[in-house]
Amino acid sequence: MSADTLTVHAELAWLGGQTAERDVLIEARDGRFTTVTPGAAAPAGALRLPGLTLPGLVNTHSHVFHRAIRGHTQSGVADFWAWRDLMYGVAARLDPDTLYRLAAATYAEMALSGITSVGEFHYLHHDLDGRPYADPNELSHAVIRAATDVGIRITVLDTCYLQGDVTGTPLAGVQRRFDDGSWQGWARRVEALRPSSPLARVGAAIHSVRAVPHLAFGPIAEFAADQQLPLHVHLSEQPAENQACLAHYNRTPTELLADAGVWSSAATAVHATHLTDADIAALGASGTSISMCCTTERDLADGVGPAVALHAAGSPLCVGSDAHSVIDLWEEGRAIELDERLVSGIRGHLPVPVIAEALTGSGAASIGWDAGRIEAGALADLVTVALDSPRTAGARSGDALAHVLFAATAADVRTVIVGGRQIVREGTHLHLPEVGAELEAAVASALGRAAGS
Ligand SMILES: [Zn+2]
Repeated sequence: MSADTLTVHAELAWLGGQTAERDVLIEARDGRFTTVTPGAAAPAGALRLPGLTLPGLVNTHSHVFHRAIRGHTQSGVADFWAWRDLMYGVAARLDPDTLYRLAAATYAEMALSGITSVGEFHYLHHDLDGRPYADPNELSHAVIRAATDVGIRITVLDTCYLQGDVTGTPLAGVQRRFDDGSWQGWARRVEALRPSSPLARVGAAIHSVRAVPHLAFGPIAEFAADQQLPLHVHLSEQPAENQACLAHYNRTPTELLADAGVWSSAATAVHATHLTDADIAALGASGTSISMCCTTERDLADGVGPAVALHAAGSPLCVGSDAHSVIDLWEEGRAIELDERLVSGIRGHLPVPVIAEALTGSGAASIGWDAGRIEAGALADLVTVALDSPRTAGARSGDALAHVLFAATAADVRTVIVGGRQIVREGTHLHLPEVGAELEAAVASALGRAAGS
């Protein structure tokens, strides 16, 4: 098998239907699938994939440097705003080298969990005093290099962040690192960001209705449309954001962004936790995707968003590990359904293939990749989950797809392929074999401490 061709034989593979298919021969050339044949014999030389194979998972919402404070905020931090203060402490320290190292180790953790593409919602732009680096996109290039060095795709969702609250309070302290001065300054910087790697692309983001003046929403949406960039927005994560928006604009965040023409099938609302019925209808009718980040929303006591209602209204669902209290998209996917069960007292809201689609194809569309499905022509990204682990044993006797989506964890991932190239084999990253040790060192350096202390 040469570097630009791939032939694999999957014991079971999910091809988009109600259940997995058996004995699927999958071939790729130059990074894209060429043929997909269920019920086929394995040709000599094929890479055999025992277990269940799916399209590579897509993490649509990451703030990679938040990985440094995992486990640091589980006591004595009462709410989202207190947590944010701690997170800002890390943001105030990072430089291009420490960010690169932390991002590479974290993206390797993602790869090991089956993630083949990440949407990095990137708002840390400038030097410690708020001044641009010699290359104003230095930190964007650091996260791009980190992802491509560990072999996963990245969409840098380059984020516009201009003010401290809805009243236009100027940015202060660490927030000056986020500040491009104006939406035009942001757009000039984004236009200059041209990644050379085929694994990297650019998207746009409005941080939130808090952080961008409303008169900039329309121009940013037009810029994104002109440049054919996916557009992401944090939406109604916290009741306090809604209250401030209503008090200042007399509109909900969803309404305010709708007025400016932000919502469309190229847009993704992240969280969408506290919505009115009219908000849900507007988002659904526009075809806006919803990035659910359930483990973060739990961790930060945000609440349970109306994902099922949004899906019924017309919004595709996708997932993100966001603040990385854990990195496990299998958990993110099932949490959409399971959290709704807790709220409603009713089981069975989302069919199993809808959850699988949220982890794969819908996520890829949200961050602008022609991936997330195993079919001829799509980018050749795959993940294979073992079916003989303590968690997945028994899956072969029933619906393997449902079993994996409701019981597998990141630890059950065995093989990961991106663009036809294997990056994880037998649960080990091929370029970064000691991901735990690298994370230990990278987190310590991001926190300004000696490793292990
Ligand atoms: Zn976020």
